[in-house]
Amino acid sequence: MYISDTIAAISTPVGEGGIGIIRVSGENARKIAGFIFVPHKSGGLKSHRFYYGRIINPADGTCLDEAMVVLMLAPKSYTAEDVLEIQCHGGYLVVQKILELVLRQGARLAEPGEFTKRAFLNGRLDLVQAEAVIDVIRGKTEAALALAQHQREGLLSRKIADIKEGIAESLALIESCLDFPEEDIEFAGNAEITNLVGNSLEGIDTLLRGYSEGKLLREGVSVLIAGKPNVGKSSLLNTLLKEKRSIVTSVPGTTRDIIEEVVNIKGLPVKMLDTAGIREARDEIEQEGVRLALEKIPLADLVLFVMDASRTFDSEDLLLLDAVEGKAVLVVINKCDLPVILSLPPEFSAWQTVEISTATGYGIDKLCNQIYATFFHGDAVDAREYVAVSLARQRDVLIRSADSLRTFIKNFNEGLNLELVAVDLRDALNAVGELTGETTADDILDLIFQRFCIGK
Ligand code: GDP
Repeated sequence: MYISDTIAAISTPVGEGGIGIIRVSGENARKIAGFIFVPHKSGGLKSHRFYYGRIINPADGTCLDEAMVVLMLAPKSYTAEDVLEIQCHGGYLVVQKILELVLRQGARLAEPGEFTKRAFLNGRLDLVQAEAVIDVIRGKTEAALALAQHQREGLLSRKIADIKEGIAESLALIESCLDFPEEDIEFAGNAEITNLVGNSLEGIDTLLRGYSEGKLLREGVSVLIAGKPNVGKSSLLNTLLKEKRSIVTSVPGTTRDIIEEVVNIKGLPVKMLDTAGIREARDEIEQEGVRLALEKIPLADLVLFVMDASRTFDSEDLLLLDAVEGKAVLVVINKCDLPVILSLPPEFSAWQTVEISTATGYGIDKLCNQIYATFFHGDAVDAREYVAVSLARQRDVLIRSADSLRTFIKNFNEGLNLELVAVDLRDALNAVGELTGETTADDILDLIFQRFCIGK
């Protein structure tokens, strides 16, 4: 087991709450519990049992709070070390003071993600599982969460293990040949090797194909609602928020005048950017709205070009038309409950058009389907079965591994020296090992765990 000092941190969010949890991990955890916790009923703490009692400063006997405490002895804990969790009142100061007390008894403050890093170093989780922990915490839609949970549970790891096994077996076959060079190279293993490596390559390609969808689910997409004043942009945003009843988070606008809301569209987290929050000195403000919309266009993955069916196409629409050149655009014709007088110029023929009315709700479902279809081709992702890689790091090592396997297959089929072809197989194996963390460099590990919050 990885030997380490004892770390501690507050594991609940900062601020006021019902309870606050201080987590301690390492060889001093049990000793610290003995120093600062006085159970209501006397006697030592048994592992995995909750105890009610008081947190006492051993220096002067003062009581800091009443608390529930649980000690989880190694290896049956999150980090696979001795872990102590103290549940106290969730006030900002009380949690902080108990943490300070713990630190004075022989722990040090944990770095971000250090508990999960220890779980990884102690073999409780592999690296893709550890990376998934952060996505479980941040998952904003059912599908994103399911993807993260599947990774955390090890479904992705199992697929990776299959891939790895195929490569390792092929390598073993080749190495056995290298050990007995006098034996005929046309051994029965030839076809087996091609087959094993072919299967591993297919496994990698399948995971890579899932990457773009996995990434979308994880990170979501940005959709800008653009259009001249009064076409119904804010009505559209409100309708989406209300109909979907699935606002996931309210992201404070990056500028004061941009509204950003995350809407769950068929499992895809969609950050809606609306520029219509501005309503003051009308003329100037309208100009400001257009300017803000124009600024946001490069940031959007998709622009909803909203138009008013009851008005004619005019110079303001034209302004936006020029601005969205080269972007993915969905044309949204709103107010279809009114007599339609809008006719679209030919430039619009390349884009999909959806007719809606935010007043009646007409066309809103179709619009959502279209937004979804812009990013996902085919059916809605089945969250129950979804296993994919979702991080650029994971994609990069898979690409490297696949490249090595392709080179191997080519060289092997051409009958190149076995000593040489084995190098590519080893490279492929190492790359896959980086995915799960067996061969990952320390600096990369540090980068991965720094993305976590303190206390996780
Ligand atoms: P924005 O300036 O583009 O954000 O437009 P608003 O959402 O503020 O809407 C402008 C006006 O159009 C408001 O009076 C809305 O009530 C009205 N409006 C919005 N959508 C519709 C619609 O589908 N049908 C009708 N008849 N009026 C609408």
